[in-house]
Amino acid sequence: MRLALLFTIAALLPAQEARLNALLKDILIFDAHIDTPRYFLDEGYKLNERHTYYELDLPRLKEGRVGAVLFGIYAQPQDFQPFEWMPRSLEVLDALHEEVKRNAGQMEFAYTSGDVTRIHKAGKVAALASLEGGHLFGDSERILRDFYRLGVRYVTLAHFRNSVYADSMTDERKHGGLSPKGRDLVKEMNRMGMMVDVSHISDEAVLDAIRTSASPVIASHSSVKAIAPIPRNMPDEVIRAVASKGGVICINFHAGYLNEAAYNVYIKNRPQRDAEIKAVGKDWEKVRRIQRRYYDLMPPVNVKELLRHIDHIAKLVGPDHVGLGSDFDGISGMAPRGMEDVSKYPVLVKGLMDMGYNDGDIRKIMGGNLVRVMRENERRAGQ
Ligand SMILES: [Zn+2]
Repeated sequence: MRLALLFTIAALLPAQEARLNALLKDILIFDAHIDTPRYFLDEGYKLNERHTYYELDLPRLKEGRVGAVLFGIYAQPQDFQPFEWMPRSLEVLDALHEEVKRNAGQMEFAYTSGDVTRIHKAGKVAALASLEGGHLFGDSERILRDFYRLGVRYVTLAHFRNSVYADSMTDERKHGGLSPKGRDLVKEMNRMGMMVDVSHISDEAVLDAIRTSASPVIASHSSVKAIAPIPRNMPDEVIRAVASKGGVICINFHAGYLNEAAYNVYIKNRPQRDAEIKAVGKDWEKVRRIQRRYYDLMPPVNVKELLRHIDHIAKLVGPDHVGLGSDFDGISGMAPRGMEDVSKYPVLVKGLMDMGYNDGDIRKIMGGNLVRVMRENERRAGQ
C-alpha cells in the first residue's frame, strides 16, 4: 500500500514540474510597486550587476521571470525640504529612464498596457513609473500631465500623511475622505488614462475615490486587514468596493504587514532603529546592517503567510481582483522568508498551484489583472 502511494507521488511530481515550467515559460509577472530607483541616484546602484543586498537587479529579475515592474518614486516630507520634493522626483524619474536606456538590450520603458505585453513577449523587462503623493507634482494637474508624458502611470493620492487630496490612513481625519480637489484630481486622472492608487489613503477616502472614478482603481501595495489587523492594511468591505468597480488589490510583501506579531515588534523598535539609521547618515552599508539587525528581531514570517493574503482576496471577491505589489526596496529588507527578492516569484506560482489555483487564475494574479486594469484606464481616457 505504502509502496503504491509512493509510486503515485513519484508519477505526479514530474507532471507538476512540467506544469510549473510551462507556466513560467510565458507567464507575465508584473509587480505594481517596487522602490529601487532612488538607489540609482543616491548610491550609483547598477541594474545590470547582481547584488547581495536590496531586492531588485536585472540578473535577479531574469531569475524570477519578471516581465514588468511599476517603479515607485517618492520623497518622504520628513527627509526633504518642500522645495526639493518635485526636483527630487524628476531626478529619480530621470535616473530610472537612464538606467533603462543603459540596459536597452534587456529592458524597455513601457507607456501603455500594449507596450507591457509586447516588451514581455520580446523577452525583456518592461519598466513603468508611479508617484507616491501629490506633493511630488506640486499639487498641480498641469505638472501631473507632464509627469504622465514622462511615463508616470499611477499616483497614490496620499502617503503616510494627509495630502490636499485625501486623508492618509496613518494620519488624523481631516477631509473625511477625499477633498473636493481630490475628487477633481481623480476625474482628471481618468481623462489622462492614469490609474488612481488607493494604497495609503483612509478607508473613507478609498470609498470616495471609487465613487468618483470612472475607471477601475488599484491598491498598488496593500495587504489584508482580516488577516493582519494593522493600520496600513485594507478591510474586507473596502476590498469588496475596489473589486465592485473592477479594480485590483496588489499585496504588499512587508513581513510586518503580513503578520500582526511581526508588526508589533517592528513598530516597537522603529523609533530606536530610525535613530540609529539617522546617526550613520549616508553610509549605506551601515544602514543596511542596522536594518538587518532589526529584521532579525521580528518573529519569522514566511511566504505561506503571503499566499494566505492572496488567497483571502481571491476567495472574498474572486481571482480577478488580486495582484502583487511587493514594495521591494521600500520595506527596508523586511521581506518574508522564502521571498527575499525578485528572483523568488516562481515560488508564488508554485504556491498557488499547490493551493489548487488553475493556470488561468494564476496568470491573472501574477500580472494579468494589473494589465487589464491598465488597459481599462487607457480605454476610458479622454472621456
Ligand atoms: Zn508606500
